Amino acid sequence: MKTCGECTACCTGNLLVTIEGEEIRPGNPCRYCEGGCTRHDNQPEKICAEFQCGWKLDNDMPDEWRPDKIGAIVVHAMYQWNGNQVDGLTPVDEMILPEKSQAVMTYLQSKKRLLVLSKRLSDNTRLEFPVGPPLFQSTFA
Ligand code: SF4
Ligand code: SF4
Repeated sequence: MKTCGECTACCTGNLLVTIEGEEIRPGNPCRYCEGGCTRHDNQPEKICAEFQCGWKLDNDMPDEWRPDKIGAIVVHAMYQWNGNQVDGLTPVDEMILPEKSQAVMTYLQSKKRLLVLSKRLSDNTRLEFPVGPPLFQSTFA
């Protein structure tokens, strides 16, 4: 099983997480995130122990694709569409996906995974761009 190591990408506001009633969001990371989780032995929310990003779940994804290294988090089955699971791909601490994350997108597409590029904004709105067959792109909501 892969480990997070120095990555804290899901604790710094890239994903929607509420910790002790406070939403973490871009510019407002989890108060317990200081180069890693300082509450590792007594995490305040169930999701802290349960969440595994797509990189951790997929043994075929190489170590150098760890989200903080590649600049993108894969969230497995983040959405559903027409009975299909759809993965989310979210840039880490940036507005757009960096060039180096293209390899992840290409890999997911090679696996025939439906994909939505997703970015959470500081006002809690979300930008979403479906990537996949025309029908998916036109009807994903
Ligand atoms: S994004 Fe993945 S590797 Fe990074 S801290 Fe979260 S679960 Fe761990
Ligand atoms: S408590 Fe720890 S695992 Fe949970 S969001 Fe904060 S830093 Fe991340």
